[in-house]
Amino acid sequence: MSENPAISIQNLSKIYAGGKQALDDVSFDVPQGSIFGLLGPNGAGKSTLINILSGMVMKSSGAARIWGFDIDINPRNAKASIGIVPQEIMFDPFFTPKEALELQAGLYGVPKARRRTMELLRAVRLEDKADAYARTLSGGMKRRLLVAKAMVHSPPVIVLDEPTAGVDIELRQLLWEYVAELNRGGVTVVLTTHYLEEAEQLCDEIAIINHGKLIAKKPTKELVGMAREKAVVLTLDKEMTAAPTHAAFEKAELLSDRVVEITYNKDRMNAGEVLAAVQGLGLSIIDVTTKEADLEDVFLSLTSENMK
Ligand code: ADP
Ligand code: MG
Repeated sequence: MSENPAISIQNLSKIYAGGKQALDDVSFDVPQGSIFGLLGPNGAGKSTLINILSGMVMKSSGAARIWGFDIDINPRNAKASIGIVPQEIMFDPFFTPKEALELQAGLYGVPKARRRTMELLRAVRLEDKADAYARTLSGGMKRRLLVAKAMVHSPPVIVLDEPTAGVDIELRQLLWEYVAELNRGGVTVVLTTHYLEEAEQLCDEIAIINHGKLIAKKPTKELVGMAREKAVVLTLDKEMTAAPTHAAFEKAELLSDRVVEITYNKDRMNAGEVLAAVQGLGLSIIDVTTKEADLEDVFLSLTSENMK
């Protein structure tokens, strides 16, 4: 079934009991074998979407398929095909990591002979904590235990909801290494994060939601390329009292009395034309640096357009 998407979401909407519309007609596919980022500001609806996939939240309308299994028609197969690492950390504090994984394997009906408890604990660097009480684990350790828990039934798809929130940088790195390793082994990975830089580095493809609506879904490279504004910072040979102005510039701003930052729309002009325009105003340029747009620029421009 290599052509089927790992996850397919069609016209998904959710209105909570209080009347809050958390998802509004969201449709997208997650390709098999990808690392897929679901981005959006707080309250955008990311966890709602993931909790619908895990069966923890009932959708209001629309459909979702996981590994080809409709969550309404084939809930057991759909559930067996996905491992979810929830945003909220919740455990029974009296179980040890080893017991927690054994229990989870039992819930998923994984036969004793096929359990990989110690292998999973090793993979998330918790083998020396195998017999410690969960309440003695640090936040980062608990997060990694949740990842191991999501993998006990060897699902082809794993979803991590804000996996690095509250995890220190070193452990974050470790978590990403493990996620990348799972992905190399063929597991499709979906993650939500508000760390744009992380999404940019890790994800092949990114969907952005805001106020419950899908506002973009593209390969990461294309999304980054969507930033239409670029900037050049010019150092000029003499002091200025005001930034040079030109009809073709989006914005020009003095950073100091000889340094100006000029923002332009890359669909309309290129850096060479900006420089020519500045020289045309009788100014001499002694240094140039360019600024590439990153995902943050795209994200901000998309989410602010969506607010209008
Ligand atoms: P995100 O994960 O992107 O931060 P959520 O899916 O948690 O967003 O929340 C989306 C919106 O739905 C928010 O406005 C949130 O307050 C609301 N919401 C989330 N859970 C519930 C709930 N159980 N009942 C009512 N409203 C909820
Ligand atoms: Mg959330």
